[in-house]
Amino acid sequence: MTPPDESPVCSAKGCRAPARWALVWNNPRLHTPDREKVWTACDAHRPTLSDHLAARSFLRRVDPLAHPPVAGRAHDRSMTTARWNGTVIAESDDIVTVEGNAYFPRESVVGDVLRPSATTSHCPWKGEASYFSLEVDGKTNTDAVWTYDAPKDAAAEITGRLAFWKGVEVS
Ligand SMILES: [Zn+2]
Repeated sequence: MTPPDESPVCSAKGCRAPARWALVWNNPRLHTPDREKVWTACDAHRPTLSDHLAARSFLRRVDPLAHPPVAGRAHDRSMTTARWNGTVIAESDDIVTVEGNAYFPRESVVGDVLRPSATTSHCPWKGEASYFSLEVDGKTNTDAVWTYDAPKDAAAEITGRLAFWKGVEVS
């Protein structure tokens, strides 16, 4: 999983070049039609990655990455759950998905599991992220939760919402 603070890099194996393209795809055997997955690509890997997807009829379109990948955003109305070690951390049917990450309403967090963290990171288009650690049954998952309390305008829809990584399963 990509840390939220990094500028996107190419998805090609071993390539760390900055991504210039978003290859938007959907595998009809795995994804409902409204799901859109995004691979990022540098100029050099755009043809090989898009050919790979097109050969399987997964490729929907290729967007320039000058702006945040609009394809990565969706408002999901199906019930979505975040679990860590089997414990439900958050549950909601009001999810905003950006760059493949589900952002939960803060009030959807179940119980007293968030611990403030001093960690911050910067995203060029979303702004400053702050973090929480999770504490569940005496175990701590450091910085497993991030949020944008005052994002830039382009990311206003995720203001105050929470996203999870570091082994937290979202389904
Ligand atoms: Zn590349």
